[in-house]
Amino acid sequence: MNLKPESYILRIGHRPERDQRVTTHVGLSSRALGASGMYLAADDAKVADSITDVAARFGGTFFCENNVKWKSCINQFKKSGGKVVHLTMYGLRLQDVIADIRKEEKVMIVVGAEKVPGDLYELADYNVAVANQPHSEISALALCLDHLYEGRELDLAFPDAELEVLPTKIGKTTIKHEHGNEEEL
Ligand code: SAM
Repeated sequence: MNLKPESYILRIGHRPERDQRVTTHVGLSSRALGASGMYLAADDAKVADSITDVAARFGGTFFCENNVKWKSCINQFKKSGGKVVHLTMYGLRLQDVIADIRKEEKVMIVVGAEKVPGDLYELADYNVAVANQPHSEISALALCLDHLYEGRELDLAFPDAELEVLPTKIGKTTIKHEHGNEEEL
């Protein structure tokens, strides 16, 4: 199932010494909730590799590009017809603008870590708040993607997965797919 609009995440302001766990979760959450890839505007191969490893094992084509320059990343995306959605607690309410965002071809959702540069607010096509309250890039991203795809992201399949988790009432069921042989772990 190809979700529309395509969505990509740009993570800016990442500090390797303190944001590794949160930035990794930015990648894992956006992959699981329908995004097609992530750009990391910092040089942290460890984070990019851990996200890529999960994508390799659990399937799909999600990518994580390390060490991009955030402004040229945005400008290239806009030149290719994409629109930029900057998640910020100061923005317009998600519920008031999501219908317009859904009509876009493809969107780049930008989340910060430390204070974001002021010119990002100008560069963005949409400055969007998930409640005008301070919370987290992870919760903001998750709710933004869920409102963008109206829950369809929860039905995503990852057919080429090596590891597949089956819904289980009690306990865990994991299937390891290896060249067509399935083995329950
Ligand atoms: N202190 C930083 C500043 O003032 O720019 C932001 C820290 S905040 C934990 C990190 C990121 O989470 C923000 O850049 C934004 O992308 C996201 N975020 C936090 N609360 C949000 C909200 N209510 N709506 C949308 N995004 C939010």
